[in-house]
Amino acid sequence: MLSALIVAMAAPAYSAPQVHPLGPGLYAYISDNDASANSTFLVGTKAILVVDTGLNQQEGGKLLHAIRDLSPLPIQYIVNTHYHPDHQGGNSTVGPSAIVINTDWTRERTMQVINSLPASERGRFRPADLTFQQRITIQLDPYQADIYFPGKAHTSGDALVYFPHQRAIAMGDLFLNRSSPAMDQGSAKTWIEALDAALKLPLEQVVPGHFELATKADLSRFRNYLNDLYQQVYALTEKGATIEQVKQGVHMEQYQDFRQYPKYEATFADNAATIYSQIKEQK
Ligand SMILES: [Zn+2]
Repeated sequence: MLSALIVAMAAPAYSAPQVHPLGPGLYAYISDNDASANSTFLVGTKAILVVDTGLNQQEGGKLLHAIRDLSPLPIQYIVNTHYHPDHQGGNSTVGPSAIVINTDWTRERTMQVINSLPASERGRFRPADLTFQQRITIQLDPYQADIYFPGKAHTSGDALVYFPHQRAIAMGDLFLNRSSPAMDQGSAKTWIEALDAALKLPLEQVVPGHFELATKADLSRFRNYLNDLYQQVYALTEKGATIEQVKQGVHMEQYQDFRQYPKYEATFADNAATIYSQIKEQK
Protein backbone atom coordinates (compact mmCIF):
# COMPACT_ATOMS: atom_id res chain seq x y z
CA MET A 1 0.00 0.00 0.00
CA LEU A 2 2.73 2.42 1.03
CA SER A 3 4.91 1.52 -1.97
CA ALA A 4 1.91 1.97 -4.29
CA LEU A 5 1.37 5.42 -2.80
CA ILE A 6 5.03 6.37 -3.31
CA VAL A 7 4.87 5.23 -6.94
CA ALA A 8 1.69 7.26 -7.47
CA MET A 9 3.27 10.36 -5.93
CA ALA A 10 6.43 9.95 -7.99
CA ALA A 11 4.46 9.80 -11.25
CA PRO A 12 4.92 13.03 -13.19
CA ALA A 13 2.00 15.45 -13.20
CA TYR A 14 2.27 15.98 -16.97
CA SER A 15 0.99 13.46 -19.49
CA ALA A 16 3.54 11.11 -21.05
CA PRO A 17 4.40 11.01 -24.76
CA GLN A 18 2.42 8.39 -26.68
CA VAL A 19 3.69 5.85 -29.18
CA HIS A 20 1.18 4.59 -31.77
CA PRO A 21 1.89 1.71 -34.20
CA LEU A 22 1.02 2.85 -37.74
CA GLY A 23 1.70 -0.37 -39.64
CA PRO A 24 4.52 -2.93 -39.89
CA GLY A 25 7.68 -1.45 -38.34
CA LEU A 26 6.33 2.10 -38.27
CA TYR A 27 5.45 4.20 -35.19
CA ALA A 28 4.24 7.71 -34.42
CA TYR A 29 5.70 9.38 -31.33
CA ILE A 30 3.22 12.02 -30.16
CA SER A 31 5.02 14.56 -28.00
CA ASP A 32 3.56 15.58 -24.62
CA ASN A 33 5.15 19.03 -25.00
CA ASP A 34 3.47 21.44 -27.46
CA ALA A 35 6.78 23.24 -27.90
CA SER A 36 8.52 20.06 -29.12
CA ALA A 37 7.57 18.32 -32.38
CA ASN A 38 6.14 14.86 -32.92
CA SER A 39 8.37 12.20 -34.45
CA THR A 40 7.90 9.12 -36.62
CA PHE A 41 10.22 6.11 -36.67
CA LEU A 42 10.61 3.13 -38.95
CA VAL A 43 12.23 -0.06 -37.64
CA GLY A 44 13.69 -2.25 -40.42
CA THR A 45 15.45 -5.60 -40.06
CA LYS A 46 18.90 -4.01 -39.54
CA ALA A 47 18.41 -0.35 -38.69
CA ILE A 48 16.04 2.49 -37.76
CA LEU A 49 15.04 5.71 -39.53
CA VAL A 50 13.69 8.63 -37.44
CA VAL A 51 11.78 11.66 -38.73
CA ASP A 52 12.30 14.73 -36.47
CA THR A 53 13.95 14.51 -33.07
CA GLY A 54 12.31 17.08 -30.77
CA LEU A 55 13.42 20.38 -29.28
CA ASN A 56 16.52 19.55 -27.28
CA GLN A 57 18.51 16.92 -25.39
CA GLN A 58 15.70 16.29 -22.95
CA GLU A 59 13.01 15.81 -25.60
CA GLY A 60 15.40 13.79 -27.77
CA GLY A 61 16.12 11.61 -24.74
CA LYS A 62 12.42 10.92 -24.24
CA LEU A 63 12.09 9.93 -27.89
CA LEU A 64 15.18 7.70 -27.74
CA HIS A 65 13.78 5.99 -24.65
CA ALA A 66 10.52 5.26 -26.47
CA ILE A 67 12.43 3.84 -29.46
CA ARG A 68 14.61 1.67 -27.20
CA ASP A 69 11.47 0.21 -25.58
CA LEU A 70 10.74 -1.30 -29.00
CA SER A 71 14.10 -1.99 -30.64
CA PRO A 72 17.85 -2.08 -29.89
CA LEU A 73 18.82 -1.61 -33.58
CA PRO A 74 21.13 1.26 -34.61
CA ILE A 75 19.57 4.58 -35.61
CA GLN A 76 21.03 4.89 -39.08
CA TYR A 77 19.03 7.78 -40.57
CA ILE A 78 17.50 10.98 -39.23
CA VAL A 79 15.27 13.07 -41.50
CA ASN A 80 14.49 16.63 -40.38
CA THR A 81 11.31 17.98 -42.00
CA HIS A 82 12.58 21.56 -41.65
CA TYR A 83 15.09 23.73 -39.80
CA HIS A 84 13.05 24.81 -36.76
CA PRO A 85 14.82 23.73 -33.56
CA ASP A 86 11.75 21.92 -32.19
CA HIS A 87 12.18 19.41 -35.05
CA GLN A 88 15.94 18.92 -34.98
CA GLY A 89 17.23 19.92 -31.53
CA GLY A 90 17.33 16.25 -30.48
CA ASN A 91 19.56 15.12 -33.40
CA SER A 92 22.76 14.74 -31.35
CA THR A 93 20.97 12.78 -28.63
CA VAL A 94 18.87 10.50 -30.85
CA GLY A 95 21.46 9.74 -33.54
CA PRO A 96 25.01 10.84 -32.74
CA SER A 97 26.28 8.73 -35.66
CA ALA A 98 23.17 8.67 -37.86
CA ILE A 99 23.19 10.07 -41.39
CA VAL A 100 21.15 13.29 -41.14
CA ILE A 101 19.06 14.06 -44.24
CA ASN A 102 17.15 17.19 -45.27
CA THR A 103 16.75 19.63 -48.14
CA ASP A 104 19.55 21.92 -49.37
CA TRP A 105 17.52 24.92 -48.14
CA THR A 106 17.01 23.43 -44.68
CA ARG A 107 20.72 22.75 -44.27
CA GLU A 108 21.57 26.30 -45.22
CA ARG A 109 19.07 27.76 -42.72
CA THR A 110 20.25 25.31 -40.05
CA MET A 111 23.81 26.58 -40.46
CA GLN A 112 22.53 30.16 -39.99
CA VAL A 113 20.71 29.11 -36.80
CA ILE A 114 23.81 27.35 -35.46
CA ASN A 115 26.08 30.30 -36.27
CA SER A 116 23.69 32.68 -34.50
CA LEU A 117 23.93 30.74 -31.22
CA PRO A 118 26.62 30.94 -28.54
CA ALA A 119 29.05 28.00 -28.82
CA SER A 120 27.63 26.45 -25.64
CA GLU A 121 24.20 25.98 -27.29
CA ARG A 122 25.31 24.54 -30.61
CA GLY A 123 25.91 20.96 -29.52
CA ARG A 124 22.33 19.72 -29.83
CA PHE A 125 22.30 20.41 -33.59
CA ARG A 126 23.67 18.11 -36.25
CA PRO A 127 23.35 19.68 -39.71
CA ALA A 128 22.59 17.40 -42.64
CA ASP A 129 25.19 14.94 -43.97
CA LEU A 130 23.06 14.32 -47.05
CA THR A 131 20.90 16.91 -48.80
CA PHE A 132 18.54 16.80 -51.77
CA GLN A 133 16.44 19.16 -53.87
CA GLN A 134 13.39 17.17 -54.98
CA ARG A 135 13.28 13.59 -53.74
CA ILE A 136 15.29 10.80 -52.16
CA THR A 137 14.24 7.23 -51.34
CA ILE A 138 15.72 5.32 -48.43
CA GLN A 139 15.52 1.52 -48.62
CA LEU A 140 15.26 0.33 -45.04
CA ASP A 141 14.93 -3.39 -45.67
CA PRO A 142 12.14 -4.58 -45.93
CA TYR A 143 10.50 -1.14 -46.02
CA GLN A 144 10.92 2.16 -47.84
CA ALA A 145 10.77 5.86 -46.99
CA ASP A 146 10.05 8.35 -49.79
CA ILE A 147 11.36 11.76 -48.75
CA TYR A 148 10.32 14.68 -50.96
CA PHE A 149 10.16 18.45 -51.22
CA PRO A 150 6.50 19.34 -51.92
CA GLY A 151 7.13 23.00 -52.89
CA LYS A 152 7.28 26.07 -50.64
CA ALA A 153 4.84 25.67 -47.77
CA HIS A 154 5.49 26.16 -44.04
CA THR A 155 9.06 27.16 -44.93
CA SER A 156 10.82 27.30 -48.29
CA GLY A 157 12.47 23.92 -47.80
CA ASP A 158 10.18 21.47 -46.01
CA ALA A 159 10.46 17.72 -46.56
CA LEU A 160 7.60 15.22 -46.24
CA VAL A 161 8.19 11.51 -45.63
CA TYR A 162 5.81 8.98 -47.16
CA PHE A 163 5.84 5.31 -46.13
CA PRO A 164 4.18 3.34 -48.96
CA HIS A 165 4.09 -0.07 -47.23
CA GLN A 166 2.30 1.42 -44.22
CA ARG A 167 0.19 3.98 -46.15
CA ALA A 168 1.30 6.69 -43.73
CA ILE A 169 2.97 10.09 -43.98
CA ALA A 170 4.98 12.37 -41.68
CA MET A 171 3.89 15.94 -42.52
CA GLY A 172 6.22 18.09 -40.39
CA ASP A 173 4.62 21.49 -39.81
CA LEU A 174 2.72 21.39 -43.11
CA PHE A 175 -0.02 19.97 -40.92
CA LEU A 176 -0.90 20.66 -37.31
CA ASN A 177 -3.98 18.75 -36.24
CA ARG A 178 -6.88 21.11 -35.42
CA SER A 179 -4.64 24.12 -35.16
CA SER A 180 -3.70 27.33 -36.94
CA PRO A 181 -0.15 26.80 -38.21
CA ALA A 182 2.88 29.05 -37.94
CA MET A 183 3.91 30.39 -41.37
CA ASP A 184 7.60 31.08 -41.95
CA GLN A 185 9.00 32.23 -45.30
CA GLY A 186 6.78 29.80 -47.16
CA SER A 187 3.81 30.08 -49.49
CA ALA A 188 0.18 29.38 -48.60
CA LYS A 189 -0.70 28.90 -52.28
CA THR A 190 1.77 26.09 -52.94
CA TRP A 191 1.17 24.79 -49.38
CA ILE A 192 -2.47 24.08 -50.33
CA GLU A 193 -1.25 22.34 -53.51
CA ALA A 194 1.14 20.25 -51.42
CA LEU A 195 -1.73 19.19 -49.15
CA ASP A 196 -3.85 18.31 -52.20
CA ALA A 197 -1.02 16.16 -53.55
CA ALA A 198 -0.57 14.39 -50.19
CA LEU A 199 -4.32 13.73 -50.02
CA LYS A 200 -4.08 11.90 -53.37
CA LEU A 201 -1.62 9.34 -51.93
CA PRO A 202 -2.87 5.99 -50.62
CA LEU A 203 -3.06 7.10 -47.01
CA GLU A 204 -4.57 5.93 -43.76
CA GLN A 205 -2.55 7.56 -40.99
CA VAL A 206 -1.07 11.03 -40.86
CA VAL A 207 1.54 12.22 -38.36
CA PRO A 208 1.19 15.98 -37.82
CA GLY A 209 4.13 18.17 -36.77
CA HIS A 210 2.36 18.81 -33.48
CA PHE A 211 -0.64 17.50 -31.55
CA GLU A 212 -2.64 14.29 -31.79
CA LEU A 213 -2.27 11.58 -34.45
CA ALA A 214 -4.57 12.21 -37.41
CA THR A 215 -6.54 10.58 -40.20
CA LYS A 216 -6.85 11.57 -43.84
CA ALA A 217 -10.13 13.32 -42.92
CA ASP A 218 -8.30 15.51 -40.36
CA LEU A 219 -5.70 16.41 -43.00
CA SER A 220 -8.48 17.24 -45.44
CA ARG A 221 -10.13 19.56 -42.92
CA PHE A 222 -6.85 21.38 -42.31
CA ARG A 223 -6.44 21.76 -46.08
CA ASN A 224 -9.96 23.23 -46.23
CA TYR A 225 -9.10 25.68 -43.44
CA LEU A 226 -6.06 26.95 -45.33
CA ASN A 227 -7.93 27.07 -48.63
CA ASP A 228 -10.99 28.88 -47.16
CA LEU A 229 -8.73 31.42 -45.53
CA TYR A 230 -6.72 31.91 -48.72
CA GLN A 231 -9.86 32.44 -50.83
CA GLN A 232 -11.30 34.95 -48.34
CA VAL A 233 -8.06 36.90 -48.06
CA TYR A 234 -7.69 36.90 -51.83
CA ALA A 235 -11.23 38.27 -52.32
CA LEU A 236 -10.70 41.00 -49.70
CA THR A 237 -7.33 41.94 -51.20
CA GLU A 238 -8.90 42.23 -54.67
CA LYS A 239 -11.40 44.71 -53.17
CA GLY A 240 -8.52 46.82 -51.87
CA ALA A 241 -8.76 45.90 -48.17
CA THR A 242 -5.91 46.91 -45.87
CA ILE A 243 -4.05 44.33 -43.79
CA GLU A 244 -6.07 45.32 -40.70
CA GLN A 245 -9.36 44.97 -42.61
CA VAL A 246 -8.25 41.54 -43.82
CA LYS A 247 -7.32 40.40 -40.29
CA GLN A 248 -10.73 41.41 -38.99
CA GLY A 249 -12.75 40.55 -42.10
CA VAL A 250 -12.17 36.78 -42.39
CA HIS A 251 -14.89 34.39 -41.20
CA MET A 252 -13.48 31.27 -39.62
CA GLU A 253 -16.47 30.26 -37.48
CA GLN A 254 -16.48 26.70 -38.75
CA TYR A 255 -12.92 26.24 -37.45
CA GLN A 256 -13.60 27.47 -33.92
CA ASP A 257 -12.18 24.26 -32.44
CA PHE A 258 -8.73 25.05 -33.94
CA ARG A 259 -6.01 25.97 -31.45
CA GLN A 260 -4.72 29.55 -31.63
CA TYR A 261 -1.19 30.40 -30.54
CA PRO A 262 -0.56 34.15 -30.46
CA LYS A 263 2.97 33.55 -29.06
CA TYR A 264 3.91 31.65 -32.27
CA GLU A 265 1.99 34.10 -34.49
CA ALA A 266 -0.36 31.22 -35.25
CA THR A 267 -3.91 32.59 -35.12
CA PHE A 268 -6.57 33.07 -37.81
CA ALA A 269 -5.65 36.77 -37.98
CA ASP A 270 -1.88 36.03 -38.13
CA ASN A 271 -2.42 33.50 -40.91
CA ALA A 272 -4.65 35.98 -42.79
CA ALA A 273 -1.98 38.70 -42.48
CA THR A 274 0.75 36.38 -43.78
CA ILE A 275 -1.37 35.30 -46.75
CA TYR A 276 -2.18 38.97 -47.47
CA SER A 277 1.54 39.79 -47.58
CA GLN A 278 2.25 36.83 -49.86
CA ILE A 279 -0.53 37.84 -52.28
CA LYS A 280 0.74 41.45 -52.33
CA GLU A 281 4.28 40.24 -53.05
CA GLN A 282 3.08 38.21 -56.02
CA LYS A 283 1.38 41.23 -57.60
ZN1 LIG B 1 8.06 24.61 -37.80
